[in-house]
Amino acid sequence: MDKDKLNEAAELISKAEHITAFTGAGISVESGIPPFRGKNGLWSKYDPIFLSLDYFYENSTESWKLIKEIFYDFFGQALPNYAHKGLAELEKFGKLEAVITQNIDNLHQEAGSLNVIEFHGTSRILACTQCSFKYQHKEISLVNLPPICPRCGSVLKPNFIFFGEGIPQHAYLASMFEAENADLFIIIGTTGEVMPASLIPQIAKQNGAKILEINTEPSNYTHELTDVFLQGKASMIMKQLVSLLDRD
Ligand code: NAD
Ligand code: ZN
Repeated sequence: MDKDKLNEAAELISKAEHITAFTGAGISVESGIPPFRGKNGLWSKYDPIFLSLDYFYENSTESWKLIKEIFYDFFGQALPNYAHKGLAELEKFGKLEAVITQNIDNLHQEAGSLNVIEFHGTSRILACTQCSFKYQHKEISLVNLPPICPRCGSVLKPNFIFFGEGIPQHAYLASMFEAENADLFIIIGTTGEVMPASLIPQIAKQNGAKILEINTEPSNYTHELTDVFLQGKASMIMKQLVSLLDRD
């Protein structure tokens, strides 16, 4: 990694007064969770139709078989890596206001981040499709599918958004607040292809934020928006970056 760029990034962080991180699937790749797109992405193995709302309501047992396999049996094993932990550390020493994540894997919280805005919701909560009551996923058995609401007997759905669903309003508003108030946005591991999440960094930039980006590959942001691009794996770069910061 280019030392000058790392120092430039560390200086941006030191000088900033309101830093927000914006993360995508790439931050969890080193925890063993593949992204959706790309050569080894989940969509090369599974047909994304099982996450469309219409399909889910008509074929909830079939849909739930894949949801359980991917988001609970597989994602459930993953542990946070140093990129998640580094962000939690930045928050702890007062350098990070919030993490806006497009991920649904709960790894920011497991790493210790407190202010996590889950733009696409979370797999950790199941919501009733009829009475809207919410349950921690661990309270609900996934042995018989689909899981059923203990209160009203209707089908439960993971509380992340499916294709065809809107962004949770509180997450949208909290993200807009961050985009309007941040003076530094740290974008980690996202292509910038998923709308409307991809607009958040643009709004931050329009409101005067500097953009620091970490990704193994250039993204849609790199040439359009990014001020400092650190190319490489998120965990390695975050580790180097955090070690450069003065924690006073
Ligand atoms: P995405 O837009 O989130 O892009 C993934 C990005 O990560 C790519 O730009 C890639 O170059 C980069 N990347 C890969 N490995 C990296 C590493 N080690 N360090 C830094 N960057 C790395 O792509 P997507 O997977 O198509 O996501 C679509 C949507 O689905 C997003 O909302 C995403 O957050 C969500 N999703 C979530 C999870 C999860 O919860 N972990 C997993 C897959 C997808
Ligand atoms: Zn119910």
